[in-house]
Amino acid sequence: MKSLWDEAKAQTFEGELQRRVYSSRLLGADPSLVLHGGGNTSVKIQERDLFGDVQDLLYVKGSGWDLATIEAKGFAPVRMDSLLRLAELDELTDSEMARQLRLATVEPAAPAPSVEAILHAVLPYRYVDHTHADSIVTITNTPSGERWIRELYGDRVVIIPYVMPGFALAKLCAQLFPEQAHARTVGMVLLNHGLFTFGDTARESYERMISLVSEAEEFLKGKGAWNLPLNRTQRQGEPVGHRISALRTKLSEAAGVPLIVSLREDEALTSFASLPEVGSIATRGPATPDHVLRTKRVPLVGQDVDRYVAAYGEYFQSNSAGAVELKMLDPAPRVVIDPDIGVLAAGRSVGEVEVVGDIYRHTAQIIQRAELLESWQALPEGDIFDVEYWELEQAKLKGGGSRAPFAGEVVVVTGAASGIGRACVESFRARGAAVVGLDINPEVVELSRDASYYGVACDVTDEQALTEAFERAARRFGGVDMLVLNAGVFPPSVRIADLGSDAWSRTIAINATANLSALRIAYPYLRAAPRYGRVVLVGSKNVPAPGPGAAAYSASKAALTQLARITALEWGVDQIRVNVVHPDAVYDTGIWTDEVLRQRAENYGLSVDEYKTKNVLRTEVRSSDVANVIAQLCTLEFAATTGAQVPVDGGNDRVI
Ligand code: ZN
Repeated sequence: MKSLWDEAKAQTFEGELQRRVYSSRLLGADPSLVLHGGGNTSVKIQERDLFGDVQDLLYVKGSGWDLATIEAKGFAPVRMDSLLRLAELDELTDSEMARQLRLATVEPAAPAPSVEAILHAVLPYRYVDHTHADSIVTITNTPSGERWIRELYGDRVVIIPYVMPGFALAKLCAQLFPEQAHARTVGMVLLNHGLFTFGDTARESYERMISLVSEAEEFLKGKGAWNLPLNRTQRQGEPVGHRISALRTKLSEAAGVPLIVSLREDEALTSFASLPEVGSIATRGPATPDHVLRTKRVPLVGQDVDRYVAAYGEYFQSNSAGAVELKMLDPAPRVVIDPDIGVLAAGRSVGEVEVVGDIYRHTAQIIQRAELLESWQALPEGDIFDVEYWELEQAKLKGGGSRAPFAGEVVVVTGAASGIGRACVESFRARGAAVVGLDINPEVVELSRDASYYGVACDVTDEQALTEAFERAARRFGGVDMLVLNAGVFPPSVRIADLGSDAWSRTIAINATANLSALRIAYPYLRAAPRYGRVVLVGSKNVPAPGPGAAAYSASKAALTQLARITALEWGVDQIRVNVVHPDAVYDTGIWTDEVLRQRAENYGLSVDEYKTKNVLRTEVRSSDVANVIAQLCTLEFAATTGAQVPVDGGNDRVI
């Protein structure tokens, strides 16, 4: 591990607090030090208040902030005298502590101070840095953890046995630190948890962290506990989409809400999943206690969700005995290790899944290295339970919070690169869905960099490609809940006397037949959708009100509409709803350039604005209007509607 300190860059961060921001971001930039909100940092600063009185403050990381992206306002300024007095109490519940930390904060708009604020205050150094460094938790989660740490660092670090984070840990450190510390002390190891360093400057504290962690990495290398050979499997490339989709149904049922399930297509994790001993080593506990809040204590190894749920219930019962107030969290696993498929991460949103996946990528490595060093030995389940059901975390649950309508659900949109399809990508994402966009235009892949979007270049008339696209959707997000069949062509105007059979067949192939393939391929996925499948097909005003010169187009959309109606009849038994929208005159799409619009308007003797709003409501119909109706048809508000045809055309007198 190398120091990322850049003195020239650091100079642009003026003042103690800004230096704190700079070095906190350096720590946050390395996922082998801290992951997703883990770790915390502080700086002690003297400031004058409004009355000119000098006050000693601890600026400590606020909860909800991530070290990688923290700003000055992400640090809560807390009065040192209050913190030191709190440290002298014999007992304090963590919720009372959190309240007292709030009261001792001198900025009303500040975030809630880290629960480790008191611990930061009792360490007698200006800068304090805390991480959950992979190499430290690797070494300390072994039977001889403490002995290894002594062998590695000698007496340069203070060693604190594991105790629950929060007041108990602050109290223990306040007692043990002065007993063990001396002039050469540069850090403090919390067994099974992480590492603290400190210093007089931001740079000193940060570089001590880097140097202690580097030494730990070298130590592991010296013990032959660093390089992890890949355990090659033969099953690469085999389709697994339907198995993942079936697993997701069971996981969602256990969670009580739809979950996103994502196969981590990472060679190291696939290798880990196929280790013969994975069932034993993966089920001993997390690398550091607060990972339990993201990953649960242990993964499910195999596919027996029922057994996992039963075991979780027993774990809750036996560890919560006496605590009547506790509310059991949903018992669905967040990591599933299937030796045949690989490692899957589960969560209520793509964001949660990404965090789980990242944590587990590190955890698998930590476990294997600890096994090579000696043996992976995580904390007893009671200690992990205490963190999982920590009163502060339970309080957050009571807050509740509303879920987006499509949270945990997946939609596949065809023709997603432009027009109505592209607007659908936005409409479904705005409602919390994970979106898979298909289009023959390869730009569909780059439509968004957000993890909740996955673009696949695919010709919908190619059944093989379509099958592959659904397989990829299931690997990425776990299945398909909703399908928007939007891809289509609008051929140039031709009278029947001049309409060739090839042009006719081509239009029918894309606008009708390709959608039959998509429906057939999607069916098993939609049938497995936790809240039942939904399909919306994009028809056209030309179905109820065709126009001359558009025979192939109108006939193909009519065939599509009839296909949708039969699908609604056949799939009702599976609770899958199938509806059609009939848009008209949507001009904010690729084919309608300003020039084309001007010519069309001229043909009618109208201005462009008059032409665009040539409907009963005199309103312009945009792609987003159509997309919003499509998305809304998939919500629970329309739970009793199937086989419907909804015009989105501003009102058309021939349709009305
Ligand atoms: Zn920690």
